[in-house]
Amino acid sequence: MTIEGMETKIIDGKRIAAEVREEVRLRVEKLRAKGVEPGLCVILVGDDPASQVYVRNKDRAATKAGFQVETVRLPADVGQEELEQVIFERNANPSVHGILVQLPLPPGLDPEPLLRALDPRKDVDGLGPANVAALWRGQDGMQPCTPAGCIELLERSGVTIEGRRAVIVGRSPLVGKPLAALLLNRNATVTICHSRTQDLARVTREADILVAAVGRAEMVRGSWIKPGACVLDVGINRGEDGRLRGDVAFAEAREIASKITPVPGGVGPMTIAMLLSNTARAAANLGGLDPDSLD
Ligand code: NDP
Repeated sequence: MTIEGMETKIIDGKRIAAEVREEVRLRVEKLRAKGVEPGLCVILVGDDPASQVYVRNKDRAATKAGFQVETVRLPADVGQEELEQVIFERNANPSVHGILVQLPLPPGLDPEPLLRALDPRKDVDGLGPANVAALWRGQDGMQPCTPAGCIELLERSGVTIEGRRAVIVGRSPLVGKPLAALLLNRNATVTICHSRTQDLARVTREADILVAAVGRAEMVRGSWIKPGACVLDVGINRGEDGRLRGDVAFAEAREIASKITPVPGGVGPMTIAMLLSNTARAAANLGGLDPDSLD
């Protein structure tokens, strides 16, 4: 049995992310009309080149969607307390609705106290303890952007989640674990695999929805996939040739899967789109408006 029939379909994350960003832009217009000027603060510590690119892209996309964006750049040797102070100030600033600390932090800085310091209502990355607890309790809260983007891709591609067997390879707090909670909250039966999982290919072959979030280029082979499964590839791996590859061997997998995300252009573009969506939601909540009334 297949989920969506045998025809292989590429899930176009670029198109879906553009759709989400346009919806957010319209919500921002409505917020403005109601007197809420949505603001996002992005905190970048140190000069990690990848983080610089991510922050620049977030700034650009948020500005384009109509947000006021403040990017706080701090040197790698900033003190932990000074960094916490930056967060406390933004927590107290009513024109900031979303705060994001770009991770990873340089060595010597601990992200945990920062995540605890964030006002949960402004924690638009959804990684602070209050939002993690809400997620696992099935309550409303800010949902981590990449996993939320995966759900959006499934739902907008017409993939049924309820009752399906979902297998996630990877158990990081950023992707694998929160995605498991999101799928569970939508009534999937969820298995999380990791580096100690025995006979991994046997487990992945049971998946109607298979998610690879490992960080190992083309680890998931076509033979690991159940015919007709939907495959989401979260992995971003840059090869020596400079090419980006996912965690899934795409050419093999597309022959077996009913739907599959490419890398690049699959899950990747969704992360920023969901950040913008979370920030608009936070702005509505903090402005005393019902976020759903903006649609
Ligand atoms: P982590 O390194 O934090 O976690 C990787 C997970 O994969 C761990 O749970 C690890 O298991 C598991 N793993 C490692 N090797 C194996 C193996 N041989 N078999 C089974 N499981 C294995 O990575 P992230 O979750 O942060 O990211 C995963 C990938 O997704 C990366 O390529 C990253 O670049 C990409 N990514 C993409 C994003 C986007 O599209 N916007 C956002 C975030 C990440 P264990 O816990 O046992 O060590």
